[in-house]
Amino acid sequence: MKTLLKNATIIPMTKEDYFFHGDLVIEDEKIYYVGPSYQGEYDKFVDASSYIALPGFVNAHTHLAMTLMRNYKDSQENLQAWLSEIFPIEDKLNEEDIYYGSLNGVAELIKSGTTTFSDMYFQQWKTVEAVIQSGIRACIGITFFGDADETNRRIETNYSKILKAANNNPLISVHAAPHAIYTCTKETYERVAQFCLENKTYMNTHLSETKKEVDDCINQTGLRPVEYLESINAFSAPAYLAHGVYFDDNELEILKKRNVSVIHNPSSNCKLASGICPIGHYREMGINVALGTDGASSNNNLSMIKEMRLAAMIATVSTMRPASTTPYQILEMATINGARALGLSDKIGSLEVNKEADIVLINKNICEMTPLNNIFSALVFSLPDRAIDSVYCRGRELMRNGKLLTIDEDDVIKNVNRQWEDILRR
Ligand SMILES: [Zn+2]
Repeated sequence: MKTLLKNATIIPMTKEDYFFHGDLVIEDEKIYYVGPSYQGEYDKFVDASSYIALPGFVNAHTHLAMTLMRNYKDSQENLQAWLSEIFPIEDKLNEEDIYYGSLNGVAELIKSGTTTFSDMYFQQWKTVEAVIQSGIRACIGITFFGDADETNRRIETNYSKILKAANNNPLISVHAAPHAIYTCTKETYERVAQFCLENKTYMNTHLSETKKEVDDCINQTGLRPVEYLESINAFSAPAYLAHGVYFDDNELEILKKRNVSVIHNPSSNCKLASGICPIGHYREMGINVALGTDGASSNNNLSMIKEMRLAAMIATVSTMRPASTTPYQILEMATINGARALGLSDKIGSLEVNKEADIVLINKNICEMTPLNNIFSALVFSLPDRAIDSVYCRGRELMRNGKLLTIDEDDVIKNVNRQWEDILRR
């Protein structure tokens, strides 16, 4: 089955500031043609002359089912005070909560153009169900808290449940996600690194999110967070780190040597007053920097479009140099750099022949995008979520003309509200 997307404005994300007008052909799950004019046969025709075609966004750090706690207990004194409000709610969550919270999150992701997300949360076999139902792509991080015994228990139970639910679905990768150095022991990180090497997969952890975390780490170990994880060989496995606000140059050298990516979460870092991650400096040091929304209770949305805009704004004001990070570099963070961070860049992140067809069609004929002028500025600074018209993931159409095709949005809203009211009564 071949689908021809005709006369699109195509941004392949293969070369800086490069775009062209042409055709894309999807054959089954892959990109069959991308170029100026396709002359072969096809089964389905889409007039894409009103659209910009872009690789689907990669949200490289979130806690999907936290859509349940959206707009709940905001404006706490600091991260620890906020967590002390959130953890008791999380203790009450059941499988049905996780399923509907995840489905709500997936709906929001697709509607704002995201086709891949990396998740760290609980009972994720239910998130996997939502992923399979919706057709989005996900890296599901088995989440670890506590000591090595608890880690071994979670590998035996939770990992098996996630694998069973995923059932070898090609859209799902399983990663390992120790929560943070202040909630997991040294032995947990050692065990997780061993697990990742054995299973050829990635470690995903929060690191250097706040100044307090760094100070506590230095007080307890004599080392900064990256130095500490390096000292226990945690980076012997491939890894990506959420937040990374406070890395110094020695830590960046270690990350570069170990090929570890940093996931920038500007909304969460602003909202929780964690600090400003100097992404321009990290990039200059040769670090792969990607973008994530964090959970919907510390953001409070999952839109990569809003995240790109904020990332660009902060990069500018924090350096007092508007040119320090360009719109194209922000788009890279939201697409190909995310794919690299998650170990998926051979499959997704750019529009190239033989890559899997994760494609977003963006309507450029709306007032917010008129006149278009610089297309990269338009995408980073003026793009509204409502411009996302159609979304393909692995060749399957998940949204068309702004309407979700695999999720009943009204039904999800009803179910999430019911679950949340029930959680508050428990
Ligand atoms: Zn997080």
